[in-house]
Amino acid sequence: MSKLDVYAVIGNPIAHSKSPLIHTAFALQTAQSMRYEALLSPVDEFRESVTAFQQKGGKGLNITVPFKLEAYKCATHLTERAEMAQAVNTFKFEDSKILGDNTDGAGLVRDIEINLGVSIDSKRILLMGAGGAARGVILPILKKNPSILAIANRTPQKAQQLQQQFVAYGDIVSGGFMEFSGENFDIIINATSASLNDALPELPASIFAKDSLAYDMMYGHEPTRFLVFAKQNGAGYLADGMGMLVEQAAESFFLWRGIRPETADVIAQLKIGT
Ligand code: NDP
Repeated sequence: MSKLDVYAVIGNPIAHSKSPLIHTAFALQTAQSMRYEALLSPVDEFRESVTAFQQKGGKGLNITVPFKLEAYKCATHLTERAEMAQAVNTFKFEDSKILGDNTDGAGLVRDIEINLGVSIDSKRILLMGAGGAARGVILPILKKNPSILAIANRTPQKAQQLQQQFVAYGDIVSGGFMEFSGENFDIIINATSASLNDALPELPASIFAKDSLAYDMMYGHEPTRFLVFAKQNGAGYLADGMGMLVEQAAESFFLWRGIRPETADVIAQLKIGT
C-alpha cells in the first residue's frame, strides 16, 4: 500500500482552524493520496516544530497566526509575492529546501474577481490596514492594474512605509482613514484586525458608493461591524473573507499537488457550517 503524503496547518492556537476540513475536501475531490492535519506549535518553538514535521516526511505546511513572519525567516527559498509581503503562509518541502510562498493575496484576488465577479482592473481600491494580511495582498492587487490603490491605516506611518515599498508596482497613495474623507472607492477591503474585537475603524462614511464592494477579510456567523457600517452608508455589495480563506487554501494545494481544486462547493459548505 502506498504511503499517504502528509501536510498540516501550524499555528497557536490551532483547534479552530478550518484548513483541515478544506484540504480534506480538496483531496477527496481531486483523488489525491494525502492527509492533512492541524499542528499546534509552542509559540517559541516554531522552527523546531517545522524541522520535526519535515523529518517525519511531511511534504508541506500552511502557516497561520502568530508564525507568518517567522516562517518568512525560516524559508530557504521565497516566491516573489512572499518576498514582497515579508510573510509566508505556505511551505513546500523538497529535500532540504523550504520554499516559502504567500497565497493570501492570490486568494483574495480570485475571490473578488472570480467568485464575486468584480474586476479590479482600472478600479479605485481602498485597502484598510498595514499588518501581515494587508502586506500580503498589495502585490497581487497591483498586478491586476487598479487605477489607484489607497492604503489607510490607524498608524499612518505604517501605510506610508508600504507605499514606499511598493511604489514601483503601481499608483499608490497612503494616509490615516480620515484623510480619505470626501473620496469614494469601488472596492474597500478591511484588512485590519478590528473586526476580531467587534470594533470599527474610524472611517469616513463617504468612502462607499452605491456600486462599491465592501470586503471584510474576517468571517463569521454575523456581518461584521464594518460590513454593517458599509451597508448603512450605501455600499451596494458586501462580502466576508470566507471565500478568500478557501481560495488561499486552493492556491497552496496547487503549489503542492499541481492540481487546482474546485472551490465553489467547499465555500458553500463552510458558509452553511458557520
Ligand atoms: P495584524 O495584527 O498583522 O495587523 C492588524 C492591523 O489592524 C494593523 O494595521 C492595525 O493598525 C489594525 N487595527 C487593529 N485594530 C484596529 C482598530 N480598532 N481600528 C483600526 N485599525 C485597527 O493582523 P493581520 O494583518 O494578520 O490580520 C488582519 C485581519 O485579516 C484579521 O481579521 C484576520 O483574521 C484577517 N485575515 C483573513 C484571512 C482570510 O483568509 N480570510 C487571511 C489573513 C488574515 P495599527 O498598525 O495602527 O496597529
